[in-house]
Amino acid sequence: MVVKRVRTRFAPSPTGYLHVGGLRTALYNYLFAKKMDGDFIIRIEDTDQTRKVEGAEKNLIRMLEWAGIIADESPERGGNFGPYVQSERLDIYKSYCDQLLEDNHAYYCFATSEELEENRQLQLKQGLQPKYNRKWLPEELGGSVPASEIRKKLDAGDPYVIRMKVPDYVSVWFEDIIRGPIEFDSATIDDQVLMKSDGFPTYHFASVIDDHLMEFTHIIRGEEWLPSMPKHLLLYEFFGWEPPKVAHLPLLLNPDRSKLSKRQGDVAVEDYVRKGYSSDAIINFVAMLGWNEGEGSEQEVYSMQDLIEKFSLERVGKAGAVFNVDKLNWLEKQY
Ligand code: GLU
Repeated sequence: MVVKRVRTRFAPSPTGYLHVGGLRTALYNYLFAKKMDGDFIIRIEDTDQTRKVEGAEKNLIRMLEWAGIIADESPERGGNFGPYVQSERLDIYKSYCDQLLEDNHAYYCFATSEELEENRQLQLKQGLQPKYNRKWLPEELGGSVPASEIRKKLDAGDPYVIRMKVPDYVSVWFEDIIRGPIEFDSATIDDQVLMKSDGFPTYHFASVIDDHLMEFTHIIRGEEWLPSMPKHLLLYEFFGWEPPKVAHLPLLLNPDRSKLSKRQGDVAVEDYVRKGYSSDAIINFVAMLGWNEGEGSEQEVYSMQDLIEKFSLERVGKAGAVFNVDKLNWLEKQY
């Protein structure tokens, strides 16, 4: 039996200020790690340089601190690291990508954005789910492009991306802690870009490499990332790494059950701070968005310590969680 110390992470992209959905993800990761006497880490996923928002990283950290969610390994906890920042780790991603190229699990693709768009439209017209058409798949990987042509393009300095080669026939199966068993077959999985033409990795690639290197045992994140799982699991398979356990959290909804959005009220945590809400009320409120202690419990007001003791992933529901501001206002009066 191998006993591992539990490690979780919150991995925001600095594309905007911390919103309530992000706070819930951070909180559940924090509660689970602390309950299991493990570590909670923050990682800034800034590999999409075009979507970076000035001040977002600072806001994310400041709001988490306000809420009492402090990362282990950070200077605040007496450590030397953290938050980890992906744009400072480019050499690491490059070396792992080189390994995949060498092992024939990845290939160079020189398709232009016009070609990709044309192909997409064609497939849509044919009623197909758009996927890269593998025009640049090399001969060694079962395609038609000779190695000499790829060499020529590279020597000429033509822009390229690096794609993973999804095996032709394979079924990717995994068990989500919240959603149960899920299966995908390879026909539905695209040859995902791993390295972009600007030399930065994509989210998918950087996050798998880091989740492995940083030894996370559990990945807890929003359900919008569920469709990415097969790509991630294939990468784990290529490297021969054991994947962490995963839990995908239910959507947050407006009272009319539409997806929570700015249009129907405040979604940035800072808006609530500015209005004078206490962090106790916000944390208590956010914890209940998808989790409850179970039947028989009459408790409605929880401290962070209560939440750490009582939280469990098994009690997170699958159904969307409604964001009801009246409940937050009621909680605010209890503190
Ligand atoms: N950077 C992603 C986000 O902003 C993180 C997804 C993940 O946790 O893997 O939501």
